[in-house]
Amino acid sequence: MKNIYFTAGPAELNPKFEDFMRQAIDEQIGSISHRSGQFRKIYQHCVENLRILMNIPESSGIFFTGSASEVWERILLNLVEHESFHLVNGSFSDKFYKYAVSAQKFAHKFEKPIGEGFSYGEIEVPEYAELICVTQNETSTGVQMREADIHKLKRSNQKRLMAVDMVSSAPIPELDLELIDTAFFSVQKAFGLPAGLGVWIANEKCLEKAKRLSKYEGLTIGAHHNLPVLWKNYETYETPATPNVLGIYLLGKVAEEMNKTGIDNIRKETDEKAKKIYKYLETSSLCSIAVKNPEHRSKTVVVADTKKSSKAIIETLKTKNMIVGSGYGPNKDTQIRISNFPSNTMEQIDMLLKELKKME
Ligand SMILES: *Cc1c(COP(=O)(O)O)cnc(C)c1O
Repeated sequence: MKNIYFTAGPAELNPKFEDFMRQAIDEQIGSISHRSGQFRKIYQHCVENLRILMNIPESSGIFFTGSASEVWERILLNLVEHESFHLVNGSFSDKFYKYAVSAQKFAHKFEKPIGEGFSYGEIEVPEYAELICVTQNETSTGVQMREADIHKLKRSNQKRLMAVDMVSSAPIPELDLELIDTAFFSVQKAFGLPAGLGVWIANEKCLEKAKRLSKYEGLTIGAHHNLPVLWKNYETYETPATPNVLGIYLLGKVAEEMNKTGIDNIRKETDEKAKKIYKYLETSSLCSIAVKNPEHRSKTVVVADTKKSSKAIIETLKTKNMIVGSGYGPNKDTQIRISNFPSNTMEQIDMLLKELKKME
């Protein structure tokens, strides 16, 4: 019997994954040159479908990297001359901050305890920060930042660039990518694909800044895949080095499939499933909601405090072929994490909640 994965990534695969994989084999995707017309069509198809799905403006470039954490470094090297500012409330947002320190930027952070999130009104951006780094969905703690707060933060900081990590939520948040300068994700989370591909979206302001830093400020913007080089290649749907052609092919197929369903329908279903999980947790005697402020509760990664060791719950679910994640870091033994990605169907969520109820 197959397992059902409620893990935050790698995650349950898209239901059409096997079909798309079979097509990729039939089309011999693994052997084609990344300088061929066939590859350029694959890149273009992927980009066109992502634009529709996430409402990405034509003027923004869409690039492929090895992973999302690679994009952290690309962003810091290409978009920050001196100072960055980070909203930190868990291990992923903290890693983004630490990459900035490693890249020898003057990195500021506004930090919140585990389980807490950020609202627009309380954020004070340091005077000289050039880039604001926001993690829309902090996967380690199940905390989201609402789209409206992110938009307000950017609108009141027009002169600075804003980067949004939407790794474990894209394409669910309705982010205005006309407003936000750069955003990124990887495919092993809400897109339900095997890991090994990061996607980086950036606008022309980002490109201009990267060019300025390398030409006039004497900074390195990186030898490996800096933004001007990625952009130049992207103009002809090429990549500087041999990319994950299979990953790009599969992402294009999944994005196309999601467009057939319609992003509004996918968002609506995500909301309904999230509501169901949180509603169960509100009255459960086994576990409770970890994120106290309802506005900050993630729609795609639900974190629950467990009243007994989370290990026992995880083990019992495993015997039913259901895989849920443990808590992150210090909360490993006291929390479980449940993904609510598009590949996790309502039926699967119902099965999971039924098993949890049996354990009460
Ligand atoms: C998973 C994750 C990352 C890192 O993605 P990789 O593909 O492992 O590099 C970054 N940010 C968030 C919020 C994540 O959930």
